[in-house]
Amino acid sequence: MDSIWINAPAKINIGLDVLRRREDGYHEVKMIMQSVRLFDRLTLTKSDTPGIHLTSNLHFLPTDENNLVYRSAKMLREEFGIEEGLDIHLDKRIPVAAGMAGGSTDAASCMLAMNDLYGLGLSKSDLMKRGVKLGADIPYCVLKGTALSEGIGEKLSTIPQMPDCYILIAKPSIYVSTRQIYTDLVLDENSPHPDIDRMIQAIKNKNLRDLCDHIGNILETVTIPAHPEIEKIKKCMMENDALGSLMSGSGPTVFGIYDDLDKAKAAKEKCRELPFKCFVFTTDLYR
Ligand code: ATP
Repeated sequence: MDSIWINAPAKINIGLDVLRRREDGYHEVKMIMQSVRLFDRLTLTKSDTPGIHLTSNLHFLPTDENNLVYRSAKMLREEFGIEEGLDIHLDKRIPVAAGMAGGSTDAASCMLAMNDLYGLGLSKSDLMKRGVKLGADIPYCVLKGTALSEGIGEKLSTIPQMPDCYILIAKPSIYVSTRQIYTDLVLDENSPHPDIDRMIQAIKNKNLRDLCDHIGNILETVTIPAHPEIEKIKKCMMENDALGSLMSGSGPTVFGIYDDLDKAKAAKEKCRELPFKCFVFTTDLYR
């Protein structure tokens, strides 16, 4: 085998809580992660030209060590002494800097693809241990599906699959710095902590409506006041039959949960009419 391709799914956070800020500056989180069927595609091809040669359809993305794909490939090549050249093409579909773990899922998929291409014989857990060295979200992106993430994001456990539904994704074209959002987060007795355990119970009961009634993301308290577009998108989704709508990660992406694809598509058209630029996409869950 000289070439292999792999789809790298995006993630949304259907629940995101920050429990406390640790003394070392890291935040202790409790998040429910869910993969959705919005993919980047990576194609890896063995090459006679030495080194890693990364290309992408997005001209503004770094193609050197600043790209997580490059770094993950380099890490495995060094560990396993792979010297022959490797061409990687990254076809980006997941919005960049959107709170959808785009870079992390690319890195996870690159490692999964290299494991097959070179027959490295690594298990998922082996890949997760290596991935966490490059980013806290990478182990989850190796695992995929529905999962609970705790600690500083490194403690992962699988939970039952989220009930079937359709997802409307809307990303306004504004830039949000994840680091800044966490820095600006104020935690006190008035902080609206989402009830993550209640959400897990709703998932276990396969009760989509109950789940949607309890979704929450504490980072909305920081990102929404700075970017009112997010609230406008949520409102548009809720007024157009969403069972629930929430910001993903530190934003600015917003998603809506629907029990019917036609309703999600109709809401997508309404979001397109909003008076600001917005990438919109309907999809469903990735198992
Ligand atoms: P998260 O949800 O984990 O916070 P994100 O979806 O908000 O991540 P990314 O799309 O991963 O953010 O991109 C954040 C930054 O990382 C970008 O500004 C980009 O320059 C850099 N980056 C490095 N590698 C990649 C990659 N493979 N795809 C996208 N961005 C990448």
